[in-house]
Amino acid sequence: MPSPANQLAQFSESVIRGMTRLANQHDAINLSQGFPDFDPPEEILSALETATRGPHHQYAVTWGAPRFRQALAKKINRNTGLSIDPDQHLVVTCGSTEAMMVAMMTACNPGDKVIVFSPFYENYAADAILSGAEPIYVPLHAPDFGYDREELAKAFEQKPKAIIVCNPSNPTGKVFTREELSEILALAEQHDAYVITDEPYEHIVYPPHVHTYAASLPGALDRVITCNSLSKTYSITGWRLGYVLASAAVIAQARKVHDFLTVGAAAPLQEAAVAGLELPDSYYAELQTLYTKKRDVFIDYLRRTRLPFTEPQGAYYVMVDISSLGFPNDTQAAEWFVKTVGVAGVPGSSFFRDPEHRFIRFHFAKKEETLHAAGKRLLNLIQK
Ligand code: GLN
Repeated sequence: MPSPANQLAQFSESVIRGMTRLANQHDAINLSQGFPDFDPPEEILSALETATRGPHHQYAVTWGAPRFRQALAKKINRNTGLSIDPDQHLVVTCGSTEAMMVAMMTACNPGDKVIVFSPFYENYAADAILSGAEPIYVPLHAPDFGYDREELAKAFEQKPKAIIVCNPSNPTGKVFTREELSEILALAEQHDAYVITDEPYEHIVYPPHVHTYAASLPGALDRVITCNSLSKTYSITGWRLGYVLASAAVIAQARKVHDFLTVGAAAPLQEAAVAGLELPDSYYAELQTLYTKKRDVFIDYLRRTRLPFTEPQGAYYVMVDISSLGFPNDTQAAEWFVKTVGVAGVPGSSFFRDPEHRFIRFHFAKKEETLHAAGKRLLNLIQK
């Protein structure tokens, strides 16, 4: 039998999605793969019903249905202060997952280096390898998960083609400040690299922290390739709607990659999601309040377990230090959490470059009743 491609030996299947399967098998409360257990906004659901009866069942324009791109550009311009053109600066993709793959394949030649902060969202290493690039890892240091300027500057000396910045950050909950993003951008300018950002949690940021769009920094649009998604903002992770936002020159190339990867995102879903993009600012304020409450409910239980954790500034993940529980590694700990405690998280090692077995990542994008049920399970077993 012919052997499959060598590069596939360099990464495994998603640990996050594997934990969801394990959680389902053992009927555990699933706080591993980040997705909500509550419905999208009513406006989107009713637009979906209407869309199913409309003329939206064939391919949309490959880089995105015009109505969707127009609504998206309007929302982006309102949030970022940019004035992007829906016909020049956007490619609609199947989730931010495809957006990142498109960004990497647009930016990198085989053999190029790409800076990835570690811990990192597990897709980035696979994306780098699949696009022929070689990741250079720069540590984010616990407990705050900040980077060291010298370490970053040193990594840039290796002449990377791009740096990937997840902001707000999955899995750490770090929100990069305007100053940090400006510093990263300045280094990228100095070494002529792209800044590829992944920003699906743009609206899930806990005051006093605020989200800064890297693309909105002065002169950044030529260098920043923004990957984003509607999944988390509108609680529609299964719809797989994302996009790449970049300069017209980058988008002209990105369209080609996207066209041959997937042709396009689902047409009826693009049509229905316009109702989400047209929601007023109050929707985003309420989303922030909703998630702040969820975070507070969940971390209150964590505090009571006395397990150390880093309070997230944004996104909906929390890295919990389980080293005091005495497991040989985080994978065994995560299995115990599923099978004995009844709560699923993701072994933290899957996010780190170096062997690091101290953490389990839990998420709290769940109804409050689910969070209380999970919290009680955590208290029951850990306090024994
Ligand atoms: N972003 C989510 C997580 O980190 C899930 C992403 C996915 O499975 N595509 O859990």
